[in-house]
Amino acid sequence: MTNKYMYFIANWKMFGDLRTLNTLDSVINFSKLKRKNKFKIIYCPPNTLIRPLSKRLMKTRLDVGAQNCHENENYGAFTGHVNSKMLKNAGAKYIILGHSENRQSGETDKLINLKIKSAIKAGLKIIFCIGETLKEKKNKKTNRVLAKQIDNGLRSIKNMSNIIIAYEPVWSIGTGLIPKSEDLLKSVLFIKNRFGNKPPKILYGGSVNNNNITQLKDINLIDGFLVGGASQSSKKFIDIIRKTFN
Ligand code: PEP
Repeated sequence: MTNKYMYFIANWKMFGDLRTLNTLDSVINFSKLKRKNKFKIIYCPPNTLIRPLSKRLMKTRLDVGAQNCHENENYGAFTGHVNSKMLKNAGAKYIILGHSENRQSGETDKLINLKIKSAIKAGLKIIFCIGETLKEKKNKKTNRVLAKQIDNGLRSIKNMSNIIIAYEPVWSIGTGLIPKSEDLLKSVLFIKNRFGNKPPKILYGGSVNNNNITQLKDINLIDGFLVGGASQSSKKFIDIIRKTFN
């Protein structure tokens, strides 16, 4: 049983509509029952649901986050985009940046760095995703890739107090595969050490479910989980949280 403060972040990706929000009542009720356990639950729905969700979650232990933003901190002619200020205004408190699904569609470290800076200015807390591909892992380049993503993504950002790192091996996202415990521990330790004596919170993400959580929760350097697929089921998500504290 862990006594640590744990984060549980639900990344809904491009799923969910207004009706889906009704399924969260069970998570809200669960969080009320578990007063003794220290945790934060953050739902990151598509932008269309940020406003209604933030209204629904008022006076609960749950918070709302966004999944990405445009790098420009000002308003402007960027059709189809929203910036961090708009997301904050809609009710988001957190934002996922650097997710591998966005890196794969062309997001560079430099662009992610601009997005992080704009989100900090808007007053959002950042969930900064990093992780290696399968090819990089096989070529034993994991540490090199993580170092590059951290150094470039966080370039000239001095204050880390509003940044949480999510270590998400790309080969593990949506595949049902998770790293071996010893590999995961090594990577988390590598990330922690990169920050010297004041490391940020470090989460793990990639195919977390209500079965493999019993293995993952034993890695006590991890401060929580970023959950994609399984977070769309309130039952599974509650199970993940419950088992983390068992
Ligand atoms: C994610 O999208 O960040 C993620 C971890 O997805 P999944 O849990 O489905 O692998």
